[in-house]
Amino acid sequence: MSFVYCKTCDWEQDDFWHEGYTPFLPNWASFYGDLTLQIANGEKWIRMNTRSAEEMNRYCREMGLPGIKSRPILEDEKLVINGELVLVNGNPENPGNSWRSEVDIKDYLSYLLRRKALRIDNMHWMNRDEWVADPNRWICPICKAKDIHED
Ligand SMILES: [Zn+2]
Repeated sequence: MSFVYCKTCDWEQDDFWHEGYTPFLPNWASFYGDLTLQIANGEKWIRMNTRSAEEMNRYCREMGLPGIKSRPILEDEKLVINGELVLVNGNPENPGNSWRSEVDIKDYLSYLLRRKALRIDNMHWMNRDEWVADPNRWICPICKAKDIHED
């Protein structure tokens, strides 16, 4: 995998697409399908650790997307995991350290898809062959500086 970016204006695009990578590979479509089924089944919230929920809301602000509704999980809430009652804040693998909030599933799904759309919109060269074949490949599509680099 590689991607290109501009050192002058900080523009960058997603990794070049190829057989092993696109924004929907591997297996993202079924993940989105699962989220829609949770919504169809009347579920409203999905667990996130606090850092993820905060980070997502920061990304939302940076990208001009609507924020994601979230709610804290109370210390004494309980949850059945694999048939066992555990404290919600007590991730069995890391007690007391995760799942401190839940985010609205619909907001989350919408956020993920909008982020994908922005990523797709931002692709100037879809694959590496296209970039290599472009005589203007070192010129930034945004600021026009001859400062494109490949990483
Ligand atoms: Zn630039």
